[in-house]
Amino acid sequence: MPLLKIFPFNPLQVNAYLIYEPNGAGILIDPSCMDKSEFKVLQDFIRNNNVSLEYQLNTHGHFDHVFGIGMVKEAYNPKFYIHEGDSSFLRMAGDQARSFGFDYVGEIPMPDGFLSDSDEITAGGIRLIVIQVPGHSQGSVAFYEPLEGWLFSGDTLFAGGIGRTDLRGGNYDQIITSIKTRLLTLPPETLVFPGHGPQTSIAAESPDF
Ligand SMILES: [Zn+2]
Ligand SMILES: [Zn+2]
Repeated sequence: MPLLKIFPFNPLQVNAYLIYEPNGAGILIDPSCMDKSEFKVLQDFIRNNNVSLEYQLNTHGHFDHVFGIGMVKEAYNPKFYIHEGDSSFLRMAGDQARSFGFDYVGEIPMPDGFLSDSDEITAGGIRLIVIQVPGHSQGSVAFYEPLEGWLFSGDTLFAGGIGRTDLRGGNYDQIITSIKTRLLTLPPETLVFPGHGPQTSIAAESPDF
């Protein structure tokens, strides 16, 4: 059975999620570590648990969710996948971060491939299903882990709220449709792990829609 480690990284406290098997495979969702000291926290955990990192996957391309991709790529060379609809954010991420006042010197590498709806990503005994959920951005996706019943919802669904839709590619009607038709249709006991803030469940969020 996979295990889960949560790392809230950078001043915007983006949750990076490591799904892993001790002495086995690992998949990192939203590598948001911004500098060397945050990256070291991740590195120490990976080393102490002897994890072989096979993928880094992004729920979407906003700058605060992609800071660590270059550092992770250089250290472990996992495959980096994102939905094509958000790949244009990657080129601008460094400049965008600096324009928001972030002391960020890295650049974001281009993806090794693109995620599509219903894709299955497997590493060791870990299996994730891609669910396309446009609305927060056009390339937003969620990842569903069916064994444990975990949903990694990015900035689409939070505990008690939804992602903003006033950024480029955002669309309010679309995010509501995505949540209702693609996420709230999962089993009610599904645990939801958002891009920011605490975890919740499908059952807890459903009455709000
Ligand atoms: Zn976002
Ligand atoms: Zn975010």
